[in-house]
Amino acid sequence: MDSSGLHDVLVVGAGPAGLYTALRMAEAGLDTVVLEEHAEIGIPTHCTGIVSGETNRLYKVRDEVVLHRPSSCLMISPGGRVAELEDPGEEIAVLDRAAFDQALAASVLEAGGVVRTSARVDHAHKGDRFVEVATDRGERLRARALVLGCGVTYRFHGLLGSRLPSPILHTAQLEVAASPAEKLEVHVGRQVAPEGFAWLVPFRRGDTPYLKAGVLLHGDARAHLERFLERPSIAPRLRETTREPIRRLMPVAPAAKSYDDRIVAVGDAAGLTKPVTGGGIFYSLLSAQFAAETLIEALAADDLSAGRLSRYEKRWRERLMPEIRTSRWFRECLARLTDHEWDRLVACLASDDVQSLIKRKAKFNWHSPVILSILKQPGIKSLLLRSLFR
Ligand SMILES: Cc1cc2nc3c(=O)[nH]c(=O)nc-3n(C[C@H](O)[C@H](O)[C@H](O)COP(=O)(O)OP(=O)(O)OC[C@H]3O[C@@H](n4cnc5c(N)ncnc54)[C@H](O)[C@@H]3O)c2cc1C
Repeated sequence: MDSSGLHDVLVVGAGPAGLYTALRMAEAGLDTVVLEEHAEIGIPTHCTGIVSGETNRLYKVRDEVVLHRPSSCLMISPGGRVAELEDPGEEIAVLDRAAFDQALAASVLEAGGVVRTSARVDHAHKGDRFVEVATDRGERLRARALVLGCGVTYRFHGLLGSRLPSPILHTAQLEVAASPAEKLEVHVGRQVAPEGFAWLVPFRRGDTPYLKAGVLLHGDARAHLERFLERPSIAPRLRETTREPIRRLMPVAPAAKSYDDRIVAVGDAAGLTKPVTGGGIFYSLLSAQFAAETLIEALAADDLSAGRLSRYEKRWRERLMPEIRTSRWFRECLARLTDHEWDRLVACLASDDVQSLIKRKAKFNWHSPVILSILKQPGIKSLLLRSLFR
């Protein structure tokens, strides 16, 4: 803090996006403070935590935070058809999300940053020379720049002159003790999860096998999850009564604008998730890296104008928009499939031709190469295109 009580950067929210921005800024020697509303980093945990080895390029995922390394994922259609999608050597890992976020927070502290818990930001406003926030404890903090890493809380987006990301889908997830399993499962179909999917992700805590069970959809996520877990093919696998799920919104499209004078939004706050799966940890880290690079340069030049910070948005748009555009189009097609069409699509995905294509083209974080390739398969192309005209 300088003599006038001004920090370099305040970060609202200690999720992957806010913490990774803070880490890069603290490493650059900047006075960085993260404010997190909850008492404990990463708790409550809303996320399934599936990432690929590519995450390590940005932040090393330590073995201690990995719960399971699945080798394949079963995609199950409404009529019971199954396509097995194998990990093409990308080191898929199911993280303990709370432990991952806590490791990131520890890295911020090691780099000289400050992480304050039980500090909810209630108000934020921009002055000419600084940004000021007020917390629920009545404190006021000022900084030269503000990073919105507050996830799907869009209360500060007025500061960006931005609308909410749209569409936003609904999710519900819980952890439940269950029979041991190895493979991930994705269940699709209009009854299971309209415009989305349901999942079962096996892992262990100590010797006890668990499942993370969840749904992503348009509609009442809690009710759909309850019905999903009552299915005769699933209920017998559960070994305890299920608890109340954690419900959350999920953006599947970017916000219209992610910067303004002295402010940038990162991760879910900027609506940056993979449109087909909703996975957002990698994009959160990537956007945080772009935000930190831009802010470090802008602070050095003492120019935090919207014009200067627009370089942040230019960076993530160049890297992510081609991918997001293709994936959003694909999501739109999938969202309109009937249950019968899902059966046909999953059968096509299980065929030898498509399986070998998926093995060659599929990448966990970059869906457009495999989307564009499977679209060349005649059966799949006609199925998806037809869906667009209803
Ligand atoms: C059910 C579900 C499953 C998912 N599964 C996966 C998956 O398997 N793989 C994957 O890559 N992604 C997954 N995602 C997406 C992933 O969780 C998000 O993209 C990721 O958490 C975004 O990180 P973030 O830092 O932007 O936001 P968050 O992780 O949401 O962190 C935001 C933080 O800001 C804090 N905060 C909010 N408002 C304030 C305030 N006013 N003051 C102070 N603190 C505040 C919150 O408490 C929170 O700690 C899943 C999401 C959901 C909902």
